Order: sequence, then C-alpha cells, then structure tokens
Amino acid sequence: MSARILDGKVIALEVTEALRPRIAQLARPPGLAVVLVGDDPASAVYVRNKTRRAGELGMVQRQITLPATTSEADLLALVDALNADDAIDGILVQLPLPAGLDKDRVLDRIAPEKDVDGFHPINTGKLWQRRPALVPCTPAGVVELLRRTGVALRGVDAIVVGRSNIVGKPMVALLEQQDCTVTLAHSRTRDLAGAVGRADVVVAAVGVLELVKGAWIKPGAIVIDVGMNKRPDGKLGGDVEFGPATERAGWITPVPGGVGPMTIAMLLANTVGAAERASR
Ligand code: NDP
Repeated sequence: MSARILDGKVIALEVTEALRPRIAQLARPPGLAVVLVGDDPASAVYVRNKTRRAGELGMVQRQITLPATTSEADLLALVDALNADDAIDGILVQLPLPAGLDKDRVLDRIAPEKDVDGFHPINTGKLWQRRPALVPCTPAGVVELLRRTGVALRGVDAIVVGRSNIVGKPMVALLEQQDCTVTLAHSRTRDLAGAVGRADVVVAAVGVLELVKGAWIKPGAIVIDVGMNKRPDGKLGGDVEFGPATERAGWITPVPGGVGPMTIAMLLANTVGAAERASR
C-alpha cells in the first residue's frame, strides 16, 4: 500500500480563500496583531508567514517587534493596549519568549475573545466543555486535514503522541469531540510502538526526528505529523519515519507542507471568527 498524501499547502489555500467572502461581509477588515519579542530567527520566519497571508487576504496585520530586553511590565502594557484596540480582533504573542518573561502571565493577559492562538485558560476550559471557544490553531488544522480524508472518525482508535498544552492536549479534546477513542502518549509511555500500532489515527507532536517508526503504523491508518525538526542535513523533518510509514498508512501528511500551512490557515480563520463576533 502507498499512502495518499494530505497536502497541507493546497488545503490551507482552500481554507483561507474561503475566508474572503466572510471578510468582505464585515464593516471593517479583521485585524491581527502579532507580537515578537527578541530575535529568534525561526520565530521571525513564522511571524512573517502569518502576517503575509493575513495581508494577502486584506486583513489588517500589525507586526510588533520588541527587543529581547523588553520588561514584562512593558509587554503586559502592550497586550492591554491591543486588548482595548477596536481595530484588532486577534492577538498572538509568538513563543518562545526570552528568558525572564513569564509566558503564562503574558498569555493570560490577552482578552479571551482576542486569543486567536486559543491558549488562554478560559478557551482551554471551554474547549474541554465543548462550548464555543477559540481553538488552538495546530490541532484545529489537524481536524481539518482529517475531515478532508472523508474517513468516518466516530468510534475509531486515535493516539496523540505528545502532551503539550498547545498541541497534544487540545488535540485530544478535539478528537474526543469527533467521537474517537483517544490515547494520549508521552515520554513515560511504556509501549509506544504497541499503542501506535493499535491506532487508526496517529497524531505525532513530539519534536523528535522520526521517533514514530513506519513499521509501527497499522495498515490503512491516517498519520498526521505535527513535528518540525531539523535533520542532520539542515532540512526540515517530521516526528514520523515518512518513507516506511507511507508503505503502511492510508493517508499521511508530509513535513514540510502538511500541518504547518494549516496552522496559519486556522489562525486566520480564528481571527475572522473573532472579528465576526466583535461586529455583532
Ligand atoms: P513540547 O516539547 O512542548 O512537547 C513534546 C511532547 O512530546 C511532550 O509531551 C513529551 O513528553 C513528548 N515526548 C518527548 N519525547 C518523547 C518520546 N521519546 N516518546 C513519547 N513522547 C515523547 O512540544 P510541542 O507540542 O510544542 O511541539 C511538538 C512538535 O510539534 C515540535 O516538533 C514542534 O516544532 C512542532 N510544532 C509544529 C507546529 C506546526 O505548525 N506544524 C506547531 C507547534 C509545534 P513529556 O510531557 O513526558 O515530556
């Protein structure tokens, strides 16, 4: 068997193009503010990609770059100002923050209705209660990719490898909402190979190059690779051993070009949704 490829670039383009008529309906363009503190080169690339696509869609995009020496008080004051700014519907503070800045204090300060990353504890709680909430972009993008396979998810066994607050845990909540039976695996999981081998849906969000071996994959499974790791040759690689996994999986995402573009698409969808709610 050779897996069908879930092309995140194509699907992300479809998702973002579908936002255009919604944007056109609004009295003013949706506004996204992206705050970058420090000069981490990878973060700068992510921020550029996010704001560029927002601009292409006619959204107001404001990139605010602050020096790594910025005090927490100044960063909190900026968040307060953006919370109060009627032209801004979504606020994203790019992680990681430089040492000395308390990530939780900063993210908790973002108004929940403008928290387009979906990391605020209010949104996290609502997600688990199945109440309307801003949902973290990467797991939301994974759900969209799963939807595009057309495979019925009700009752299937899913595994999420990795339990971060921003990917793994919200992914579990979203798969549970799809009526999957979900296993959450992490670094203390005893038999990862066995657990992956029982799963019809595998979401790998670990950050270890090719941790999930192709030979573990259940024949026909859907494999979603969130990982973004540097290969020894400097290129980007996933958490799944791609080549061997394609021999067994039914569907698989490549890295790059799978989940990454979907994260940006869902961020923009969240921002448009926030603007729609703000306009009511
Ligand atoms: P974190 O480092 O926050 O979490 C990693 C998780 O993986 C932890 O729960 C950890 O377990 C688990 N883990 C580590 N080693 C193993 C192991 N050997 N076996 C099983 N589980 C293990 O990472 P993130 O969730 O932030 O990111 C995960 C990956 O996804 C990274 O490569 C990141 O770059 C990528 N990413 C990609 C995005 C995209 O848009 N494509 C967006 C966000 C992240 P424990 O809790 O026990 O330590």
